[in-house]
Amino acid sequence: MVVSAAYSLNMDNLSKPDQSLKPVIGRFAPSPTGPLHFGTLLAALGSYLIAKCSGGSWLLRVEDLDPPRVVPGAADDMLRLLERLGFEWDGAVIYQSQRYQRYQQILEQLREQGRVFDCNCTRREILASAPHPGEEGPVYPGTCRNGICGSRAERAVRLRVPDETICYSDGVFGEQQQNLEKEVGDFVLYRADGLFAYQLAVVVDDIDARITQIVRGADLLTSTPRQLYLYQCLGVAPPNYFHLPLAFGDNGKKLSKRNGDFGLVTVENSSNMLWRALEFLGQLPPAELFDSAANELLCWGLEHFQTKMIPVEDCQIRF
Ligand code: GLU
Repeated sequence: MVVSAAYSLNMDNLSKPDQSLKPVIGRFAPSPTGPLHFGTLLAALGSYLIAKCSGGSWLLRVEDLDPPRVVPGAADDMLRLLERLGFEWDGAVIYQSQRYQRYQQILEQLREQGRVFDCNCTRREILASAPHPGEEGPVYPGTCRNGICGSRAERAVRLRVPDETICYSDGVFGEQQQNLEKEVGDFVLYRADGLFAYQLAVVVDDIDARITQIVRGADLLTSTPRQLYLYQCLGVAPPNYFHLPLAFGDNGKKLSKRNGDFGLVTVENSSNMLWRALEFLGQLPPAELFDSAANELLCWGLEHFQTKMIPVEDCQIRF
C-alpha cells in the first residue's frame, strides 16, 4: 500500500485539503475533441449527481491540452448544450490551454526534487527493450534513468516510479491495485512533442481546484494509480474516485467522439439521452419520464440518485 506520507514533500503553493472538514468538490473535465456524445454525457451526469447529492459543488474544466486534437468550437458547443440540459457549474470554466506555466512550475519542482529525468528514447527503442507489454503499451524499461541513451533529438520528461503497489478503493469498482514499475514504468509528464502529458495536467488542475471527488469513465481506472503517485510526490491528500462503466455501440466499440456520429447528443434527442444515461447508470428512471424535459430528469436524478446502483459491467447500448 503506497498511499502514505512516505514521499510527502513540502510544496509551498500546493496546500493540503483538510480531509476532516472538506466540502465535496466534484468536476467534469471533457476533452473538446468533438461534439457531446453519450459516453461524455455519462461522465457529466454521474459527476454532477454524485457531487450535488452530497451537497457539493461541481466545476467544469475543458481539457484542451493537446491542440492538434482540439476541434474548434467543440468546447463552446458542449457547454451550451449542457447548459440547455440544465447542468449548472460553479465558478468560471477552467481551460488547460491557459495553464501551461503552472504545469511547467510543477515539473520544475519535481525536477529539483530529483523525481524526473529526461528521456530521448524512440517508441521503437522502448518496444525493443521493454520487459513485457503493460497497461498501455510497453512498460518503460528505465533506459534513460541515469542519463539519456536514446537516439531522438527531442526529449520527454518522465517521472521515476517505485517498485511498489498502489492500492485504492474505487467508489464503484471497489479495491484496485497496480504496481507502477511492473505494469507501467516511469511515465511521461512532458511529451517529446512539446506538450504536457494528461497525467500531470489532470493532477495539478485537480489539486489547484481542491477537487475532493473524481467521477469519470472506467477507461481511466488504470491511470488512477499514476495520478495517486503524483499526489503523493506533491504531498497532497488524494481525492475519492468513482469510475463509471463504459458504453459500447453495436459494433462493440467504446462510444466516443472518435467512433463517428453514433450516440451523439443533440438538442433534439438530449432529454431521451439523459433518461438513457440515468438508466445506464442503474438508476431506474420511470418510463413515463422518457419524454420529459431535461431539467425534470435532472431533478429526478438529484432526488433519487444512488451510487450503489451503478453497475460495474460495461454495456452495449442501442439508440
Ligand atoms: N478529459 C478526459 C476525457 O474527456 C477525462 C479526464 C478525467 O476526467 O480525468 O476523457
